[in-house]
Amino acid sequence: AARLRDLAGPTIFSEMTALAQAAGAVNLGQGFPDGDGPAALLEAAHAAIDQGLNQYPPATGLPVLRKAIAARRAADHGVEYDPETEVVVTAGATEAIAAALIGLCEPGDEVVVFDPLYDSYGACLAMAEVRRVPVLLEYDGTRFSFDPDALRAAVGPRTRLILLNTPHNPSGKVFDARELALIAELCVEHDLIAVVDEVYEYLVYDGLRHLTPAALPGMRERTLSISSAGKTFSATGWKVGWACGPAPLVTAVRTVKQYLTFGTGTPFQAAVAHGLTACMDWVEELRAGLESRRDLLVAGLRTGGITTYPSSATYFLQMDARSFGTGDGDALCRELVRSAGVVAIPSVALYDDKKAGRHLVRLAFCKDEELLAGAAGRLAAQA
Ligand code: PMP
Ligand code: GLN
Repeated sequence: AARLRDLAGPTIFSEMTALAQAAGAVNLGQGFPDGDGPAALLEAAHAAIDQGLNQYPPATGLPVLRKAIAARRAADHGVEYDPETEVVVTAGATEAIAAALIGLCEPGDEVVVFDPLYDSYGACLAMAEVRRVPVLLEYDGTRFSFDPDALRAAVGPRTRLILLNTPHNPSGKVFDARELALIAELCVEHDLIAVVDEVYEYLVYDGLRHLTPAALPGMRERTLSISSAGKTFSATGWKVGWACGPAPLVTAVRTVKQYLTFGTGTPFQAAVAHGLTACMDWVEELRAGLESRRDLLVAGLRTGGITTYPSSATYFLQMDARSFGTGDGDALCRELVRSAGVVAIPSVALYDDKKAGRHLVRLAFCKDEELLAGAAGRLAAQA
């Protein structure tokens, strides 16, 4: 279809992973961890297969998982959801995002997004024939933030929802209480829905805390919170995700997803239910380990005088291509495969405003420490 013409090639993540494999380079591009999730989680998946949980799950997800998800939201944020009507399990967060945008928007509606935005957002908005209205996250010398007036101006009569990603990929930004309060204020004032992608909710550093807009006054009834087991349990290939929200919003997601995949990964759903109930100490260790890997990568890059941008969350941080004598992050990424044996993601691929993202390069630090130190050293030698 004409509206999908720009989407036909492989995604930037597939493209860069293929480059890494072809060149035998270290892959600091696509965000997936080197290590497996907790042993108890893997054992729970094996046990579920052995117990015969190998047929279709209910379209809304296994009840035991929906209950575990609701229990986590209550414990983490004090927000209560009915597992029967207010939680739906999806094929990764990716399906939840797609189903939400298709299920909640009319063709011709507008959706406010923060720029840069995760690649599937733009693709799904195009599929749903929805216009995206970007609000730029700009670096102010200490952090990435947005101009409150730009956000206010982005909301218009056709705006249906605000699509937010916190903690944010690729910047590692954790939206703070003030920023979320303004987003909430606009949602309430203009009767908008907030769709919030929280897949990195547990991977937050520097003593910061992930806040969900759903916990703010007036927001529970208009917020759809999306997350997944991929990042929390180092199981990106399991593709178990979910959405929580008031019944009308969850019904919209379910309506679409029951005809997209119906359901997926029954034994993995059972294992993730176990993980959310019994493996959260392991998640805290993962978080602490990632924080020290981030520090290790930053320190390594600094030895070459490379400018990095602060990241307080996720798998990622960004560096500045200008430290390598070029403003073109995309060209630099292609060059570094050969010169440093390192694959990274040109952040510009995730930017709507190509000028703003041109010099930024995203590096994943969810990798083995020795590999990371070696890669940082080779990058530093190129700068
Ligand atoms: N949202 C963001 C911001 C991501 O970085 C990713 C990739 N991990 C996803 C959604 C997709 O999540 P999943 O693998 O659970 O579909
Ligand atoms: N979320 C991963 C990243 O940002 C990519 C997942 C994918 O390849 N679709 O690197």
